[in-house]
Amino acid sequence: MPDKSQQPASWYAASAHAAAAHPRLQGAQQADVCVLGAGLTGLNAALELAEAGYKVIVLESESVGWGASGRNGGQVIFGFGCGESKLQSLVGEADARRLFDWSVEGVRMIRERIAKHEIACDWRAGHAHVAIRPRHVTELKHWQHELGEHYGYPLQWWDREQLQSTLPSERYLGALYDANSGHVHPLNYTLGLARAAGAAGVHIFEGSKVLRMEHGTRPVLHTQHGSVQCDFAVLAGNALVKGIAPQLDRKIMPVGTYIGATPALGAERAHALITNDMAVADMNWALDYFRLSADHRLLFGGRASYSNLPPPNLRGVMRTRMHAVFPQLKGIDFEYLWGGVIDISRNRAPHWGRLRDNVYFAQGFSGHGVAATGLAGRVISEAIRGQAERLDVFARIHHRDFPGGRALRTPLLVAAMAWFKLRDALW
Ligand SMILES: Cc1cc2nc3c(=O)[nH]c(=O)nc-3n(C[C@H](O)[C@H](O)[C@H](O)COP(=O)(O)OP(=O)(O)OC[C@H]3O[C@@H](n4cnc5c(N)ncnc54)[C@H](O)[C@@H]3O)c2cc1C
Repeated sequence: MPDKSQQPASWYAASAHAAAAHPRLQGAQQADVCVLGAGLTGLNAALELAEAGYKVIVLESESVGWGASGRNGGQVIFGFGCGESKLQSLVGEADARRLFDWSVEGVRMIRERIAKHEIACDWRAGHAHVAIRPRHVTELKHWQHELGEHYGYPLQWWDREQLQSTLPSERYLGALYDANSGHVHPLNYTLGLARAAGAAGVHIFEGSKVLRMEHGTRPVLHTQHGSVQCDFAVLAGNALVKGIAPQLDRKIMPVGTYIGATPALGAERAHALITNDMAVADMNWALDYFRLSADHRLLFGGRASYSNLPPPNLRGVMRTRMHAVFPQLKGIDFEYLWGGVIDISRNRAPHWGRLRDNVYFAQGFSGHGVAATGLAGRVISEAIRGQAERLDVFARIHHRDFPGGRALRTPLLVAAMAWFKLRDALW
């Protein structure tokens, strides 16, 4: 049986497959590469490097998948959090096109890893971005044109009638459908990656928080009971890591976000909600996203908080939002409700690169990392193996600090989000 106590309570933890527990780091160890963080970024980097013959140690403060990787909506989507036009303005058209193509590789990698490593994580193909307001229809049609004409990525436009035959909710005016994207059980996928990494020779240590890092020709990562000296370090601690590299902390804002899972609804009732089992995300800034689980629950995500506390009346607000989409679920509450933290960068673009010649990092997934983390792990592993061309494109994206440190970051973002929420409500 899985040791479910090792994961924060969620439907994912309750439905996690059995997974090996990993020891705590004890004593001084040596590695070619030491990875901080056993989420999707760290495990993908570790797996790629071990397959290339490197001795890799992963240090995880809690347990595999403890962070966003084991808690997220499971929506596997192309692109990056900031969208293509923002990337064009940041790196130019040609590189934006390459970044987009690589993001599609991130989606493909998930399907390949599932097949190669026989990871049971309920992959389902199909994803729709749905329009609530007329301006969303315009935006989605423009996006379809852009992706089809300039990025070689054709998507299907569904008008209201066509969408309603698949997603019978009065709320939406149309959808942009992608048969290539999809959804997974993210914790089982992450646990499966850890198993694959272990089989490839990666040593994973849980309960092994990195407390400090010494830089030098061979960096040393220290935990309470041990240390790892390595040729290369990979920082993949995302929003939960603090104080190891303050220059990275300043570039992201940790934001809490939440998901609920209804009780199992039965196959017939569940499939009447989303007949083709696709994942769905709306076009609001403070978006709702949802999908069915393999055991016929509705998993419904949304809401954000900028402090360590969940928003007031989280359950009630989430329930109201779910019922606004599916009034036929009135009377149904969430059986599970949980949250996680995302790492928003100021421009919502990926923040990947190197701190020094031998210290690499990836963060700033901005809530859009299930697929992009696989790519991040791969491009970092390429750079460590001497092929930095792809990482260098990411490293050229300019990122600004959140002003004012942690104390001022929160009110500034709250103000910005309040404006976007008002926009969601009015236009
Ligand atoms: C509620 C929620 C819903 C989301 N939904 C989606 C979605 O549907 N689709 C999508 O694409 N993206 C989604 N995301 C974002 C996505 O989950 C993340 O971008 C992705 O999982 C980030 O992976 P990661 O490995 O970089 O970070 P994490 O998974 O957070 O892993 C970082 C790990 O580092 C460990 N760590 C931190 N500090 C230390 C330290 N000092 N020493 C050792 N270990 C340390 C942490 O314990 C953690 O396990 C969602 C996120 C959340 C929170």
